[in-house]
Formats: sequence, C-alpha cells, structure tokens
Amino acid sequence: MHDPNDDLQAELAQLKVQLSAVQQENRILNEKLAAALDGTDLCLWQGLPQSGELTVFNLQNFDAGEMAPHFDLWLAKLHPEDRDAALQSYASHLSGNAPYYQAEYRAFRKDGGITWLWDRGRIVEWDHQGQPLRIMGAHLDITRRKEYEHRLAHMAHFDPLTGLANRRLLIEKLHTEVERTERNNQHFVLAMLDVDHFKKFNDKHGHEVGDRILMAVARHMEASLREYDVCGRWGGEEFLLILPQTTLEQAHSVVSRLRTGIPHVSIQVNKKVLSVTVSIGMTQHREGENFSDTLNRADAAMLEAKRCGRDCLLSA
Ligand code: GH3
Ligand code: MG
Ligand code: MG
Repeated sequence: MHDPNDDLQAELAQLKVQLSAVQQENRILNEKLAAALDGTDLCLWQGLPQSGELTVFNLQNFDAGEMAPHFDLWLAKLHPEDRDAALQSYASHLSGNAPYYQAEYRAFRKDGGITWLWDRGRIVEWDHQGQPLRIMGAHLDITRRKEYEHRLAHMAHFDPLTGLANRRLLIEKLHTEVERTERNNQHFVLAMLDVDHFKKFNDKHGHEVGDRILMAVARHMEASLREYDVCGRWGGEEFLLILPQTTLEQAHSVVSRLRTGIPHVSIQVNKKVLSVTVSIGMTQHREGENFSDTLNRADAAMLEAKRCGRDCLLSA
C-alpha cells in the first residue's frame, strides 16, 4: 500500500538538500562580495524612495552613528554647495530621465570633518504603478583623491617659493580682466615690478638669502594691495600686479605706497639687516587691446624706471 506521507517525506528531504545548496551558494556569494569589498573604500546601500528609508550594508570608514538611516538625514549631512547637484541627479534618475543616479559630494562626519564621496545608484524594483520601490547603490570614499587633485591644482597655479599666483594663473586672471573690461568698460591697471640689482644681492649674500628676501617682498605686496587686487610672480625676481577696475590715479597711490614700503621690508642675516629696492612700470589697459599689449607697455615703463636710476615708479 502506497503511503502519500512517504512522497511528502521524500519531497521534504529533497527541498532540504536544495535549501542547503542555496544557503551554501548564498554564503559563497557573500564571501565573494566581502572579499571584493575588502580593502576598497566602497560602501553598499539601499534606498526605499517611497518611505525614505536608507540601509547601508557595510560601513567601511564610517561609524554606525554616522550613516544616515533616512534620506532626510543623508541630505542633512551633505555640504550645502554640493547638495543641489546630488539631489538633481537623484531626482532625474527617479523620474526616468537618467539611467542612474551619480554624484560627487562632501559629507560632514560626526567629528565635523569632511569626507568626499563618489555616489552612484539605480532603481532595481518598481511597484505595480511603475513607481520606484527600491534603489541600490554604492558610494566610494574619494577624500584622498580630492586632496591630491587639490594639491595638484594648487601646484599648477601657485609659485612654490612665495605662495603667490604663478605666471599661468596670472595669465588666466588677465584673460578674465580683458573679458570684464569688454563687458563693463572699466579698465584695469597692470604694474610690473622688478627687484633692483638682484644678481648682485645674490652674489653677495647667497641664493638662499635671495630667496628669503623674495618671500618677504611677496608678503609685503600682498599686505599692501586691496582685497580684489591680484599679485603674482611673473618669473625670477619679477612680479606682476593687476588692479581691476582702477584708474591710473587710484593705482598710483596704491602702488606708490607699496614701492616706498619695500626698502623697509628687511630680513636679518648674521646680525645684518638686509633689504632691496624695486623698479615698477605701470599702465592702464586700453580699449580693444589684448593683454600682451598692456604687458609690453608696463614692461617698457619698468625698463625706463631702471634707466632713470631704479627704486622708482613710472607710468605709461
Ligand atoms: P636689474 O636691477 O637691472 O633688474 O638687475 P638684476 O641683477 O636684478 O637683474 P638680472 O636680470 O641681471 O638678474 C636677476 C637675478 O635674479 C639673477 C637670478 O639669479 C636672480 N633670481 C631669479 N630667480 C631667483 C630665485 O628664485 N631666487 C633667487 N635667490 N634669485 C633669483
Ligand atoms: Mg628681471
Ligand atoms: Mg632685477
């Protein structure tokens, strides 16, 4: 006599074998995922757009209390300057206008510091009305990369000795100034400043002492200019001053004061007090000309100042 219970028992036994195989597969998948994530700064997350609930599966560099369990808390941790762009990308994906959500933003940590994150996710489940139910994503800690990029950008634009804008940044600023002039017809003044007899100074006191006086001159220039003026190192012992939206008369009083202050900028070497003087040529940008014309005129005025005995300011 066939007992139906036997069939059920056999089926149950088979299901148990299958379950154990699936559990084993699941465990291996989890191990693979953990192995893949180990040593990366990648964090996996899931969002439920309808309730706003957020889950982070692996915390990586964060403490449990730092991870937002809700969309609004995540939003509150975003740097105000990055929030709109992140939200826009998220909204664009949710509304079906973008294949995924992706953003780079700064997030505030519990200690008040900032972590840069690269974040990306996409919808994995919709409800019967076609509304997004679940979104899966990952974010990556890119703080080190950002710091590195920031350092590179700084090195590309600033002079390592004086910390002032370098020639490349000065040229960018000159382009900006010429464009601004074309818009509002308010011209800028350029001043070319060159340290007098600097070769002799170096020969007498050494290159390192020369470096120190260049740094001191740079600090003095920064302190003497107005907030919106720009000064930078054009090269060697030559510096360029850009005074936006300024008449030659206004510039004269600023630059003249700067120049007469230079001999009082001193450094002390072996109980000796050393200082330098500078010659400056200055001119205003003229309607329709490009900045090289202005620069050439300032340079020529500076060379004329050298011929007139140095330690003076000449306008052209
Ligand atoms: P002038 O009054 O006609 O400008 O004479 P000068 O000696 O200043 O001009 P010159 O162009 O003959 O020499 C410039 C000197 O500036 C030569 C160079 O060694 C020095 N110099 C350029 N860059 C640096 C720097 O970064 N550090 C130091 N210490 N010296 C520098
Ligand atoms: Mg020179
Ligand atoms: Mg010189």
